[in-house]
Amino acid sequence: MKQLLRVDHLTKAFDDNGPVVDSVTFEVRENEIFALLGPSGCGKTTCLRLISGFERADEGEVYVEEELLESPDRHVAPQDRGIGFVFQDYALFPHLSVIDNVAFGLTDIPKHKRHVYAEEVLCRTGMGDYKDRNPSELSGGQQQRVALARAIAPKPKLVLLDEPFSNLDAVLRESTRKEVRSILKKAGMSALLVTHDQEEALSFADRIAVMNDGRIEQVGTPEEVYYKPKTKFVAQFLGRTNLFRVEAAGEEEVMTELGKLHLNCCARGRVLCSIRPEHLTLEKPNGAELDSGVGTVVNREFKGHDITYHVMLNGERYLVHTDNRLLFDPEDKVVIKPLESAVVLQEDQ
Ligand code: ATP
Repeated sequence: MKQLLRVDHLTKAFDDNGPVVDSVTFEVRENEIFALLGPSGCGKTTCLRLISGFERADEGEVYVEEELLESPDRHVAPQDRGIGFVFQDYALFPHLSVIDNVAFGLTDIPKHKRHVYAEEVLCRTGMGDYKDRNPSELSGGQQQRVALARAIAPKPKLVLLDEPFSNLDAVLRESTRKEVRSILKKAGMSALLVTHDQEEALSFADRIAVMNDGRIEQVGTPEEVYYKPKTKFVAQFLGRTNLFRVEAAGEEEVMTELGKLHLNCCARGRVLCSIRPEHLTLEKPNGAELDSGVGTVVNREFKGHDITYHVMLNGERYLVHTDNRLLFDPEDKVVIKPLESAVVLQEDQ
């Protein structure tokens, strides 16, 4: 896929406390949905504002289709960047009807055709029947779809989405996410989503950049960042995990309290590893194990479709997700069996 947006060592500080966006580098490809995921305050929105042109960069560059839009020496105005923006609060014009909100930015087409086209786009986002209402007469989810229609109507190459689903309840959020993804894919547009919600990023995006304290720690597909985290931060931010140290001798296999454990790569020395709870399972001890290999169930979280067990083994707590047919009780003795390789994490710099 061809590259559409290139962000190259983008850096921004607001005061003497150091940069809030620190040498951020990534690319978004054509027709790709890309998410910037990170905790509140890590610099995601600032990054989006630098890309859209609402903020000036201290260092670094932003290119769309190889055209330089932002650098310390160059600033293309937001309206001239060919980028659509859906704000967290939708920012619809309250005094304009739904159709006028969408027609507003269509300055490139003749006036008499604007309403016809705006209605077409509203129909695509399922809002055709609401075209004459005012934004105040719409639900959050409906306003969200109007904001999306307004952003995509001028056919931008790229749409920026700043936590656009955060005002919706859980059920509406999931269905709106699916609809928006399908609308963007059908329209052949690229999108850059900013969110602190890992489930949202994992289910909505084709690729994810995980951001921490102004810097990107890892870029990859949802499966890569979830199952092959590079750092402790990524491993922990993407979901629950088991972190533990092992002594490796330059091979892909190590002996641990869980028995023989495969690593995702050769490692040497005392290395930090991560293994997701669903990559472990529990068995009843068969009597042949060493005492040090037998753990005790200390807690059980029953969640209907699956169960999370908390198991204490040699003073360490392990989390194990199993399906709901594997029933153990607190105080039961169990053996933890790895089902997959553990991932070796980079040590903090
Ligand atoms: P959230 O998920 O809460 O929206 P975020 O990851 O989008 O957070 P930013 O809004 O980019 O984070 O903010 C990053 C840091 O920059 C924060 O510490 C914030 O207080 C600071 N910041 C953002 N805008 C400004 C500004 N205009 N002036 C000074 N500091 C700012």
